Amino acid sequence: MVTLAQRAWDALEGVPDPEIPVVSIRELGILREVNEHNGALEVVITPTYSGCPAMGQIEDDVRAALAARHLNATVVTRLAPAWTTDWISEPGRAKLKAFGIAPPHQAAGSAAPNASVLQFARRKPGAPDAVACPHCQSLNTTETSHFGSTACKALYKCLDCLEPFDYFKPY
Ligand SMILES: [Zn+2]
Repeated sequence: MVTLAQRAWDALEGVPDPEIPVVSIRELGILREVNEHNGALEVVITPTYSGCPAMGQIEDDVRAALAARHLNATVVTRLAPAWTTDWISEPGRAKLKAFGIAPPHQAAGSAAPNASVLQFARRKPGAPDAVACPHCQSLNTTETSHFGSTACKALYKCLDCLEPFDYFKPY
């Protein structure tokens, strides 16, 4: 017997992120919980960045995916605890990399908790926080703009293969 909640997880498994469609909202850790109370479904999502313009789209996509399976749910947006890039699953990180976006470093428990806020200085190649080029894996990369195609990403350039790439900033 498949529970209502399990059917909802199955329906939501493949819902893509509106900004990076190669990864699902589940892989990004946006989809937090599916709860069932007396036959009523509740889906909990946590936005990646506060005010992320994609959030309304994600809610709509969640509702549409459920409706396609004749499921009805209340979609709850939970802001605390705040989303962190640490919630991105390993398959999600691999897909980001394959897509040409350097996946974020682990943010939680970092020795320098504010390191992700201001990182305009050029990093030494091979430094522990160096961002590996998703094309050639070189650590000889530099940040060219702290804001890339979206506020969630920084624009980097590889100094070896000279390809620009997006870095999903730890958050
Ligand atoms: Zn490269």
